[in-house]
Amino acid sequence: MSSQAAWIDEAEVVVLGGGVIGSSIAYHLCLAGMTNVLVLERNELSSGATARAAGLVCHARSDANITRMVSRTRAAMSELETLLGEPIGFRQVGAIRAAHTACGEQDMRVMESCLETEGIPAERIDAAAARQFCPWLELGDATRIIFVSSDGYVDGARLGMAYARAARLLGTRIRRGVEATGLVQETNKVCGVLTDQGPIRASHVVDAAGAWGPQISRWIGWGFPAAPTRSHYWITAPDGNGLAERPNVHLPDLRAYLRSEVGGLVVGLQEPHSRTYDPFKLAPDMGSLLLHDENGDLDLLVEQAAALRAVVPGIDDWRFAHHITGLSMYTPDGKFLIGAPDGIEGFVVAGGCCGSGVAASGGFGKTVADLVTGRQPDIDLDPFRPSRFGPTDPKSQEFRDRCSAARSGKSRGKPDPVYAGVT
Ligand SMILES: Cc1cc2nc3c(=O)[nH]c(=O)nc-3n(C[C@H](O)[C@H](O)[C@H](O)COP(=O)(O)OP(=O)(O)OC[C@H]3O[C@@H](n4cnc5c(N)ncnc54)[C@H](O)[C@@H]3O)c2cc1C
Repeated sequence: MSSQAAWIDEAEVVVLGGGVIGSSIAYHLCLAGMTNVLVLERNELSSGATARAAGLVCHARSDANITRMVSRTRAAMSELETLLGEPIGFRQVGAIRAAHTACGEQDMRVMESCLETEGIPAERIDAAAARQFCPWLELGDATRIIFVSSDGYVDGARLGMAYARAARLLGTRIRRGVEATGLVQETNKVCGVLTDQGPIRASHVVDAAGAWGPQISRWIGWGFPAAPTRSHYWITAPDGNGLAERPNVHLPDLRAYLRSEVGGLVVGLQEPHSRTYDPFKLAPDMGSLLLHDENGDLDLLVEQAAALRAVVPGIDDWRFAHHITGLSMYTPDGKFLIGAPDGIEGFVVAGGCCGSGVAASGGFGKTVADLVTGRQPDIDLDPFRPSRFGPTDPKSQEFRDRCSAARSGKSRGKPDPVYAGVT
């Protein structure tokens, strides 16, 4: 598009996507003093991956920057509760993390050092103490166990809506049912968005469209380096197994996590090889995506439940009532994408959340707000540079396999060595 007599609207920043990330960005832009922020969401707010999240808010990471981003989320929750005058519903139940292999123990020590750097207390506990927290848990074979008291869980959609409501209170305009259909570019600068209702002028455009982020970046010819990757978890029947308010449990060597949920338990299992999808062929809303595979998923549950039996001896008595699936965006190195692609101005990518977008949403929002307003972010941006993988074809199977490996190794904080083709 050239000269724009036809602009229907204008904003300093247009955020594409009203999930937990886009809404947090809008909130933080307002906190940074921006007065003309516009969020465009083609469906309902927080109806994408955000609504499917297990909601774990975990500080133990293999990169201290991410631990800091999670801390920002916790701080933002307190601010939002004050601003909105109602609770967010964060359950600070703490988290137990257990290593069962030498590799797992090594990974855990890296995480502990990140926690220490960021001043997040973590204490060593033994299997008996873990059993006191969670009577169904048997960690006698674990080589190292820690407890992080500041961890917990939150409803991702509730947090996303709270950011959005706060952003609105502070002046952000949010337009639901408006779809971005293109970007307006002058040489190497993005200066507006095409929508199904007309073009909107913008000094900055933020791609916070989650699994659909690659579709947006493709409009400027840039290959978004993350793949829509299936994540899923089961929820057991509410028959008391969960014993409300027990700590989350992370078992990275078993690629599993568990947390309490209304009298039952959420049981998350990371597949050895997670499914990925062509980002250019996704239906426009998460609800229309067919992600279940009745037989395959049941086989996986049976297979992984067998591996869990040593740690959760009563698992065979649990009744599994629900299976929740959704798409997360994974990068090959398991780290986020934050910033402008090399050589492009006026455009910021905020995605590749690698299954941690709820937990890290506060840090995402603050970092993008810092970038847009020209402030120095308080995290090191280098590990998150969107162009760090070089030219990328996000739909290629080879690239998607690398992202899948990152998903499989998520709990350990790095791509799975088997599937990443490392040692
Ligand atoms: C099963 C599962 C479990 C998870 N568990 C956890 C967890 O325990 N802890 C954690 O931190 N994270 C978890 N995650 C990850 C977390 O859900 C995501 O990282 C986070 O929700 C990403 O938020 P988002 O705003 O980037 O994406 P989304 O919530 O998907 O939002 C993107 C939005 O962009 C909109 N959009 C797309 N294209 C356009 C367009 N062209 N125009 C206008 N709007 C558009 C979409 O409609 C959508 O609403 C989990 C994810 C899944 C699937």
